[in-house]
Parts: sequence; C-alpha cells; structure tokens
Amino acid sequence: MNEVQTGDFHLQLLDRRQKLESARAMRPDVSEVTRLLREVDAALERIETRTYGLCAVCHDPIEPDRLAADPLLTFCLDHLSAEQKRALQEDLDLASRIQSTLLPERHLRAAGWEACYHYEPAGPVSGDFCDLLRSGAGLFFLTGDVSGKGVASSLLMSQLHAIFRTLLSLQLPVRQLVERANRLFCASSPPSSYATLVCGECSPAGDVELCIAGHCPPLLLRDQARPIDPTGLPLGLFCEARYDTLRLHMDAGDTLVLYTDGLTEARNRAGEEYGAERLSRTLTPCRHSPPGDMVGKVLAELAAFLAGSGKTDDLTVFILQRLPAAVRGSA
Ligand SMILES: [Zn+2]
Repeated sequence: MNEVQTGDFHLQLLDRRQKLESARAMRPDVSEVTRLLREVDAALERIETRTYGLCAVCHDPIEPDRLAADPLLTFCLDHLSAEQKRALQEDLDLASRIQSTLLPERHLRAAGWEACYHYEPAGPVSGDFCDLLRSGAGLFFLTGDVSGKGVASSLLMSQLHAIFRTLLSLQLPVRQLVERANRLFCASSPPSSYATLVCGECSPAGDVELCIAGHCPPLLLRDQARPIDPTGLPLGLFCEARYDTLRLHMDAGDTLVLYTDGLTEARNRAGEEYGAERLSRTLTPCRHSPPGDMVGKVLAELAAFLAGSGKTDDLTVFILQRLPAAVRGSA
C-alpha cells in the first residue's frame, strides 16, 4: 500500500478544525458544523493510522489534484457512488462548455497575417490555453500550458485567460504585459502552480515581438525550420521576474509554429517520443501551405505516429503565417 505525504494536509485539517470549533462556539445548534467536524476528525484519524489519502475501496492513492482541492475525500474516481459520479460528470460538462467559450476563432486572417490552431483536451477539460485576437493595427497571439492536469489546471487556464484579456485592453508592450500577467498570476494561484507560454504581437509591416516564458521552443519556418529558445521563466514562479522579448521580421510565406508538449512529448506504443525534430521534418516541405493545411498535416502525422495508442496530454498546435503582398490587401 502506498502512503500519501500528509504533512501539509495535517496542518490544513487542524486549521479547518479550529475554524469549525469557533463556528460551533457561536452557533452550537448548526448540525452541518458538527457533521463537518466529524469528517475532519475522521481525516485526522486516517493520518494517524497512515491510511490518509487512500481510497476506502481499493486502497490506492486518491488522485492528488482532487485531494488537494478537497482534503476530506475518501474515494478514488473509480469508486465514487453513482450519485457522486453523476455530479462530477455534470461539473465536468459545465467546465468543458465554459472552457470552449474562451477559445478564439479557429481561423483568422487579418493585418497581413493568417493564423489557425487546433486545441484538443486529453479529457473533458484542458490545461492548455490559446488566444488570438486583433490588437491595435496588428494581432496578438498566445499558446500556453498550465502545470498539472484536469479540472484544477483548467481553472488556472481560465484565470490566466482572464488576466491576459484584461491586460490587453491596456495596450502595453509585450514585455510589460507578461510581467504584469506574471505578478497577477503569482498573487492569485496556489504556490505550486505555474504556466509556460509563448505570446507575441505581429504588425502589418511583418514585425513580430515574442516572449517565450519557459515554453517549448516555437519553430520559425523559412528555407528551413529553426527553433527559437525561451526568453524567460514560466509564469507563476517569481512575482518580480523580469521578462525579455525578441523581435523578428517575417517575410511573405514565413511561418511561426507554436505548440504544447502534448505534441512533442506524445509517445507511441514503442515508447518513442514524437519530438521537435519530427515536427520540423513534417512541416519543412509544406512550409508555404496555408496554416489550416499545415495544422491538418501535423495532426495526420501525429495520428500515424501514435498508430492508435491514445493521447495522454492536452494538445495545442498554432500556426501563424505572413501573407504574400498580393493577398495582404484583402486581409
Ligand atoms: Zn478506489
């Protein structure tokens, strides 16, 4: 039987116990307080008997992100009651609907650029995030990945989405935008969470300013594919972190590829990783195709590589291309 690390939970439970005791002192007639006190005491007893965090049915550890959200849990996901399962399913359906409303248009042609992305949660909800919108005369784009999996990371994803959307209205330079987003994210998320991302702004003249915060290196496709190294740390680690950006000029047909590790760290049955090299090899020959076709090509190659073995991580692929002068006028 595996034992769960109980130190933090022990303190948290004692704290809850104290709050409940004060609540009971004020309102001794409230039976809900008594019921919760019994549950907290039972959890403390499970710490004593070294069974805390283990499922009461199968004795396997309860999923860590669920236990972090509710330290009183006593069943793993497989052993919830029918009613608990139904309630959980309803919550997940709602979370999934909320999350899908946060996504931008899948395809955008504006300011002399064309962009297209694919966003696919591994389960009902995703910890990846993606944004794309007109900003001033140009475009703002973002692809990122919040630590962890499941509902907890999807909530952080929604939070980060709201932080960026709010800050974008201030029209800050990219560097300041990321520094302020980092401060807000640090102040409003649990200490152990962080997010990696790439974001940037592109102008009608072909200039791009990029910030790569601890994220998988984007690929710049010209004659060949070139990975671009991170310019800073992930968000959520240090409140006062400084962020650098880099500037590039993209000519007609130049393409920028952003993705999350759900793509490059996908493994086939043989345990082999998809990898950034394979992504470069896949995209270099079709680097002048429209972004939508390139996204399709990546997904087809990934499916062929996985050959039926299921995806285990959230997946995002985002492609941005500068349009040729001849069609720029119409976009
Ligand atoms: Zn179980």
